Amino acid sequence: MANTNDADEDGPRVPIVCPACETTSRIPLADVADAVERHNEQLHDGDDVAEVDPDIADQIADLVATELGLLEDADESHS
Ligand SMILES: [Zn+2]
Repeated sequence: MANTNDADEDGPRVPIVCPACETTSRIPLADVADAVERHNEQLHDGDDVAEVDPDIADQIADLVATELGLLEDADESHS
């Protein structure tokens, strides 16, 4: 499935940092893994240089857990 849904722009975004390029990019959560992999493949020969900002990696884990929790507990959080 292609991500062409413009209505999803308000989704959580994750900062990806690349110390080698000295860049930070905000990537929609759903695209983070792809973006990191693509960046490293295209610019760093597949080395794991770019990564999710370590400072917020914990928050991302929480966020993902929350999203999964919301999916699982859809009945409870229904409003
Ligand atoms: Zn880079």
